[in-house]
Amino acid sequence: MTGVLDLVRNELRDFAGYASARRTAATGSVWLNANESPWCGSFDGGQGLNRYPDPQPETLRKALAALYGTTPGQVLIGRGSDEAIDLLVRALCRPGRDAVLVTPPVFGMYAVSARLQGVPLIEAPLRDGPEGFHSDVEALIALARSHAARLVFLCSPANPTGQAMLLEEIAAIADALHGEAVVVVDEAYGEYSDQPSAVGLMPGRDNLAVLRTLSKAHALAAARIGCLLAAPELIHVLRCCQAPYPLPAPCVELALSALSLPALAITRERVALVRSERERMRVALSACTVVRRVYASQGNFLLLRFTDADIAFRQLLAAGVVVRDMRAHPQLGDALRISIGSPEENDRVLGALSSTRVAA
Ligand SMILES: *Cc1c(COP(=O)(O)O)cnc(C)c1O
Repeated sequence: MTGVLDLVRNELRDFAGYASARRTAATGSVWLNANESPWCGSFDGGQGLNRYPDPQPETLRKALAALYGTTPGQVLIGRGSDEAIDLLVRALCRPGRDAVLVTPPVFGMYAVSARLQGVPLIEAPLRDGPEGFHSDVEALIALARSHAARLVFLCSPANPTGQAMLLEEIAAIADALHGEAVVVVDEAYGEYSDQPSAVGLMPGRDNLAVLRTLSKAHALAAARIGCLLAAPELIHVLRCCQAPYPLPAPCVELALSALSLPALAITRERVALVRSERERMRVALSACTVVRRVYASQGNFLLLRFTDADIAFRQLLAAGVVVRDMRAHPQLGDALRISIGSPEENDRVLGALSSTRVAA
């Protein structure tokens, strides 16, 4: 019976990582084992920032596990989910050999991490159809097999295309590639989606992992807190590959505040507002003559095709509105991605694009 540890790079299976003072600490009241300053800084404000932080604070692990429906042992907290992506590639893929599979057009960090590790990048392009972009599941599985992909990144809801994958499709991919690849579902926009989380598929599938982040719906992009949810044995290996003190103590405090009940209640209200604004914008933008197509979205953004994306981009900039130019991405030569802002910000977008209509 193969387990997920068989997919970890051989030379890392019994790698213990850096033995930091914090990890080897016993109990005591005089701490002279880490060459820290014995005094707090004059600016410290009672935070005790002279001491190195806990590498994986149990309170935050528990709070994230409760939020996402896992056990604390299935949680690895990192500096954004970007760090988890990089750790996965480094721990699973041998340079020049084990491939990473992605589904372009898609979020660029998977390819960046693959490039940095020197591993082959396999592309299973999304197909654009009347219902929007989607993965060809059979073709994806065949490609992963024929190129010996060790890691498959699925983005759901997908950035920048907006669609969510069906859970049946995710399960089929993970099951088909069991023993061959770890399948990672990036749910950075999960809060905005109608689709339930793939975490529910994890029991019995040790090669299925999920990425979540506090950077989007939880309004904490600057604190850099994200996590990987995966089998405890994989979490343990990745912990050993991670930097010794990855989580700044003030950021951990901010994350705990964001996960307090009152903060979560506000987040839920704001997610509901973004979802209703997303629908308002989809309808209004579809009626703009310069817009050729608005893709349905399960995220907090819309992907649009324009009759002339260059004019639209410049018109938005002239109105002070900065959107994401997607034209360099495959299949998106006429597309821009627009985040859903506050209702007032969204009105600015509509105002700028209706003056495009007059100018055109
Ligand atoms: C924004 C985003 C992330 C978030 O990355 P963090 O490092 O957690 O800020 C991850 N994946 C996708 C697809 C994203 O769009």
